[in-house]
Amino acid sequence: MASDDDRPFSPAESVCPFCGVGCGLQYDPASGAARGWNGPVNTRGELCPKGVAAFDVVDHPDRVTTPLVREDGRLVEASWEAALDRIDAEFAEVVDAHGPEALAFFASSNCTNEENYVLQKLARLLGTNTVDNCARLCHSSTVAAMADRFGAGAMTNSLEDLTEADVFLVVGANPAVNHPIIFRSYLLPAIKAGTTLIHVDPRRTDTTQVATHHLAVRPGYDIPLLNALAAVVVKEGLVDEAFCADRVSGLEAFREFAAGVDIDANAAQAGVDAETLREVARAYGEAERAAIFTGMGLSQHHCGTANVHALLNLALLTGNVGRRGTGVNPLRGQNNVQGAGDVGALPDLLPGGRRVTDADARADLAAAWGVDSDVLPAVPGLTEVEATHAFGDEIHAAFVLGENPVVTEPNANRVADRFDELGFLVVQDLFLTETAEYADVVLPGSAWAERGGTVTNTDRQMIRMRPNAEPPGDARPDLDILCAVARRLTGRPDQFDYDGPEAVFTELTTVTPPYAGMTYEGIGTGSQRWPFPEGAETETAVLHESTFASGDRRASLRVVDHVDPVDPVGDDDLVLTTGRVLAHFNSGALTTRSDRLVRIGGERTLQIHPDDAAARDIDSGDTVHIINDRGEASLTAEVTPAVRHGTVFATFHGAEPSINALVGDTLDPIAKIPEYKHSAVRVTVTSTE
Ligand code: SF4
Repeated sequence: MASDDDRPFSPAESVCPFCGVGCGLQYDPASGAARGWNGPVNTRGELCPKGVAAFDVVDHPDRVTTPLVREDGRLVEASWEAALDRIDAEFAEVVDAHGPEALAFFASSNCTNEENYVLQKLARLLGTNTVDNCARLCHSSTVAAMADRFGAGAMTNSLEDLTEADVFLVVGANPAVNHPIIFRSYLLPAIKAGTTLIHVDPRRTDTTQVATHHLAVRPGYDIPLLNALAAVVVKEGLVDEAFCADRVSGLEAFREFAAGVDIDANAAQAGVDAETLREVARAYGEAERAAIFTGMGLSQHHCGTANVHALLNLALLTGNVGRRGTGVNPLRGQNNVQGAGDVGALPDLLPGGRRVTDADARADLAAAWGVDSDVLPAVPGLTEVEATHAFGDEIHAAFVLGENPVVTEPNANRVADRFDELGFLVVQDLFLTETAEYADVVLPGSAWAERGGTVTNTDRQMIRMRPNAEPPGDARPDLDILCAVARRLTGRPDQFDYDGPEAVFTELTTVTPPYAGMTYEGIGTGSQRWPFPEGAETETAVLHESTFASGDRRASLRVVDHVDPVDPVGDDDLVLTTGRVLAHFNSGALTTRSDRLVRIGGERTLQIHPDDAAARDIDSGDTVHIINDRGEASLTAEVTPAVRHGTVFATFHGAEPSINALVGDTLDPIAKIPEYKHSAVRVTVTSTE
């Protein structure tokens, strides 16, 4: 789409604003759309349809181009000075009345490392650790389990070395649709060359089309399935004894546990065929190199951390860690979901993963920031969903950067009620999103193509973004806005007086140990992958080769017991599970504004198995009503055997209807990730084709 507002666009190598693959893209003067450049991931310049459409939102006529301030119930245009004055006054009032703990900051895994770093610095210098990013909602459980067991919550391997695997075990992910360039440029060529793909997912998807085995697990029953796989490995002598003797602890206790696992009973509980499960365990356990990919189907549960612990057992038992073509590799959602956490946009962790409760870590950071260490709060803050639930109680003012929690958080009707209770809300974004509708001040920020800085992709590569255009109207680069807000609110203008993103980058690499030694120049039009030890000759493609990132030679096996789903499923109920489609992304705030993506995405449907449809007199094309105690929605039925019996599937993109209104908000006790993937619903037909 050519620019409507005649802003000059000029090509400069940047990064796709959507998924965590991190494809290089830039403006294409010939087409007025995006084109790929030979980035570090899409080395042949490949893009998926979302990448091609990435400029559709940059010059969209609905962009907010001037600050807005709420007066007499309405958002009206205001000067930057007036908007900043209002934020300053309202935040000061909240701090005076309730203390800094009454403030909440929502960072964004769709913004750069530098923007997230500045936002968490602002929060901490104000005296609160309640700063979080939406990685909380997708892979916080994966990060928690992997950090606990391996010492690093990130892909263990690089995309390039993973192509050497003999087996791909893909659990709860659909890379063919959700990470298309990884699938087409890395997985598919390997599969065509002989790698076996095993797919564990309640649905048969495009990924399943090239799978040798499919285990259509019941949502909420991953642990029985993974324990049964591990039990087959143990009982059939597939344990890598040499690796376990050298690198693993707790083997004897785990053998004892595995001996007691009834494989047939577990398979039945997980809803899969026991013989297929055994074949999968043998394929994975006998492979010379077997690599696990994992996604939100495993992580987005109230027992998500336990799910991932059960998965990690498989890799350790079979010696599939610390070598090329092996490991456990979470496929991350947004383009900087890895980096937002790395740079400290988390309520319990400072930049580089040091704990806020660690006095030495606080002292080091305070010294780097030129403040006394008692300035930095020592008590962990609230996570994203906890903070939202505390609106109007412990939390009285919030700052939301580039996220749309009214749509993306679970139990969305409750979330909307909490936003109603909040005393003061600032939203910095491109559009009047569903969340911005609740704001008292809206700050017009920059689109991906209007910002510089860095992002860290799913396989730990830091890549540079470069502006292809200036923001429209009075909109400003996000980093400039955040620094202006921080100078006002903290009273420490010297701490936010950066001369552009490179200056922030230089500071953050000095306080974020995995990024130490990286430079703008070194990244160039390539990447630098963390950990990047200063002076290292080569990057670390494979983690945990001789010691785990924890510093230990060994990682432990962990006995994990099944945890029942939260929602009881009555006789007439079905289990709703959710996911993505190729054309859309997260809340849909960006992709639903692209005509070409809306055309590709088609109608939102509810996938339902033919037996469940027949029992309810539902045909494809009928309008169906989905309801539970939390919410309701209407969708068009798509009757298909691709979804398992007893389960229905819908995408979570968009607010009309809000599928997240039906989803529960019980949180994982460790990672505080909500239960998105198992919600009991009743489905009835309301009108026929
Ligand atoms: Fe963008 Fe991901 Fe598509 Fe690449 S695969 S073009 S990063 S959405």
